[in-house]
Amino acid sequence: MIDPCIWNQILIIQPQVYRELGLGIHEYFHHIVQHLINFCAVDLSALYLDIVKDRLYCCAPASPERRAAQTALYDILDTLVRLMAPILSFMAEEVWSHLPGDGRAASPLLAGFPEETGRDEALAARWERLLSVRTAVTKALEDARQADRIGHSLDARVVLEGADALRSLLDEAAPTLPALFIVSQVEFGRGLGTDAVSPLLPELKVRVERARGAKCERCWNYNEHVGSDATHPGLCDRCLPVVHALGA
Ligand SMILES: [Zn+2]
Repeated sequence: MIDPCIWNQILIIQPQVYRELGLGIHEYFHHIVQHLINFCAVDLSALYLDIVKDRLYCCAPASPERRAAQTALYDILDTLVRLMAPILSFMAEEVWSHLPGDGRAASPLLAGFPEETGRDEALAARWERLLSVRTAVTKALEDARQADRIGHSLDARVVLEGADALRSLLDEAAPTLPALFIVSQVEFGRGLGTDAVSPLLPELKVRVERARGAKCERCWNYNEHVGSDATHPGLCDRCLPVVHALGA
């Protein structure tokens, strides 16, 4: 769910850039730069790149999870370069020259603007809601860190209990929640105490515990299967098949 969401995010700046270029690049130059910088700093650097690092480093080279992240990153970069080309021409040319793929135009200035594909507003609304849950969980993790209950966020197991409307969204996103929060485990609980109510999102209860199992020496996630394989006793059950497939 994360990859389509981040792709959907870039579609918000596309029509803004088109409109402002049409209105006059001299007058709207700083607006366009601001859209591009915000997307790179907030959506990409502080969020998406942090989340997909694990998949890009640890999943098998041709796995659907890794390929999905690579496709999203490729499409985002292709779109960003075309949007920045009129105002950051030299940088755009340089990035373009490193983009793989056959049949590309010789220059982003010849490639034209990306086509407007339309933004999925329902997906954007679900993403905004998930990000508010992420902010609430991040705050709970920070509190646990300050209380010396965890060090890195991957040391944590997060137990969530949401009100009904939130619960269905969390159920839908369940497989991606550990990656979204950058924790080792996420579980849904019942009957969490009032002390678990998030001060940032009152319809959510969050409890942070130490993750179960041992730390995998390859991906640094905690997992209860670490130690189950005699050949690679330091690896989790996600890394084991990858390492075997790579012939190690
Ligand atoms: Zn692992």
